[in-house]
Amino acid sequence: MKKIKESIDNYGPILIEKIGCFINPLILNFKNENNQLLVFYFHGLFESQEQKDLNHIDPQNNMTVNQFVDFIEYFQNHNFKFISPEDLLADLKNDQHYAMITFDDGYFNNMLAFEILNKYKIPAVLFITTKNMSENKSFWWDIIYKYRTRQGCSVDSIRNEQRTLKSYKHFLIDKYIIENFGIESFTPWSEIDRPFNENEVKNLAENPYISVGNHTHNHSILTNYTKEEIIEELRQTNKILFGLTGKLPISIAFPNGNYDKMVLKSVEEEGFRFAFNTESKKNNLPLENAKLICLNRYYTSTTKISEIGSFCRLGYEPDLLYTNMKKNIKSFVKGKWF
Ligand SMILES: [Zn+2]
Repeated sequence: MKKIKESIDNYGPILIEKIGCFINPLILNFKNENNQLLVFYFHGLFESQEQKDLNHIDPQNNMTVNQFVDFIEYFQNHNFKFISPEDLLADLKNDQHYAMITFDDGYFNNMLAFEILNKYKIPAVLFITTKNMSENKSFWWDIIYKYRTRQGCSVDSIRNEQRTLKSYKHFLIDKYIIENFGIESFTPWSEIDRPFNENEVKNLAENPYISVGNHTHNHSILTNYTKEEIIEELRQTNKILFGLTGKLPISIAFPNGNYDKMVLKSVEEEGFRFAFNTESKKNNLPLENAKLICLNRYYTSTTKISEIGSFCRLGYEPDLLYTNMKKNIKSFVKGKWF
């Protein structure tokens, strides 16, 4: 029975995805898509599949340049207007649907996107982790991925190790990395895994299509910290970014998407106008004031955008829909099968 349950759990979302790919475009033909803002978050970009296969960064959430172009063209072809957080300061028209591109962490490989963004005249936000930028320090999740992959560890065990570290504060993560991989592991291996440096961020901030946002100083998962520590993380990054760009960031992306009431309160008190989580949902327009400091963002899957784009536009995710359906069936059947 356990095996049957596991198989249903594995194939349920896949089945929903397959049916959705067929049925969603039909629904969208009749559906009015106005009054919505879809925000997407990216991490790194790869030049090619071959570069991805080098395993210099954790390939989870990372796209090739061609997939990024497909993503832009898909939404442009469906009449979405790409906007920046600054555009949210003005009232958005209700007869238009909008999309926003955000990049988390501050990978140098994001440079691959800017040529494309300039060509299409599309804005994007870069959420910078300032300590990694200032010290040319590799991101800890990449260190685990690349060293463990070289040691022949399974992806499942790597994900478990990363999950455990996400409950630690940043100095404990650093200690763990040093004990397990040595201090030299913080040195990036190539242009693929290195963060932006200060000069690059300074120059990028001059590009009219780029906004620079806060991603904390140590990529701190803010729900693990006290209020004083949260404020310190936010202020330190703002101070560094202001020193480089002459502009105080108006937006922040929560590392790992984690937030709670205290995080939201701190972000508001520190003067941020917009904050972004990682909940795969669309944002309905007009945006309520409380929503501005907790905007939803879709994870950008590396599977073909032509297949997942319709899910984003309809505002549902196969995994989430499956979980909800299961819950409903469970309460209906009273636990007989589930
Ligand atoms: Zn991040």
